[in-house]
Amino acid sequence: MLIVLAIFQRTGSVTVSFAEVEVLLRTLIEEYSKTSKGRGRPEFPFHYLQSDGFWRVKGPNGEDSPGGMVSALRDGYVGEFIDEFLVDLRSDPALSGSLVHAILDNNFPKSLHDEILLKVGFDNQDISFETVVTQRISRVREAQFREDVLDAYESKCAFCGYDGRIGGASVGVEAAHLKWHAFGGDANVTNGLALCTMHHKLFDRGAIAVSIEYEIMISPQYSGASEASFQMVTALAGREMSQPKSQYQPPMQKNVEWHLRSVFRAPSTLSNGRKKSRP
Ligand SMILES: [Zn+2]
Repeated sequence: MLIVLAIFQRTGSVTVSFAEVEVLLRTLIEEYSKTSKGRGRPEFPFHYLQSDGFWRVKGPNGEDSPGGMVSALRDGYVGEFIDEFLVDLRSDPALSGSLVHAILDNNFPKSLHDEILLKVGFDNQDISFETVVTQRISRVREAQFREDVLDAYESKCAFCGYDGRIGGASVGVEAAHLKWHAFGGDANVTNGLALCTMHHKLFDRGAIAVSIEYEIMISPQYSGASEASFQMVTALAGREMSQPKSQYQPPMQKNVEWHLRSVFRAPSTLSNGRKKSRP
């Protein structure tokens, strides 16, 4: 859906051939979908988006979608928005932007929004569509969460201890959510961790997690060849993360478990039981 909306924003076109988006769709599923279900199968979203009622797939002679048959789809099949939806999109310039943000907010943490928008094909200048009200609510909430979490962890990364400052102000330390806001996670310290920018990104992408005993875990799917990657990531495996100062509670178990289950790329999430052993 995001790919099609990006093409619509850029070109005004709403007809997209499967062949045109196949590679991008495959890459995005590979990178952002954690479940093994449908991994590497771009034909599924292309076909099944039809069940939402505003998208249809048709063949070169107007045939119905061949379903998940990838070789047939490659052969001239296109997808397009249905006419009624197209009328709505064209008559309300803010609609596509609101949709983009609703999709992002309901599926991904804020830290990944910008990179996803760029990867699906939005220009930087297309990106500010949020309504004033939702913007204000989420800004206030996020600012308070950040302040509380940084205070609890004394503005230090709970994984590596990074605590850089510039002119006295903390720089490069962020408040990460364990359970994502998009999935009902709250904005309390018990759902947060102070992490440096890099560890925050790796945490949200499932490369790093904490166990219910608060030990740092590194995904077997993570790799990095340099000494820096080893020092900054691989070497953290098995260390205990820093705890918040005494007046705060540590992360709640249910939030830790949600991150492990839903974000962390653990060995058991590899598709079809293809388990990789660690070198
Ligand atoms: Zn760090």
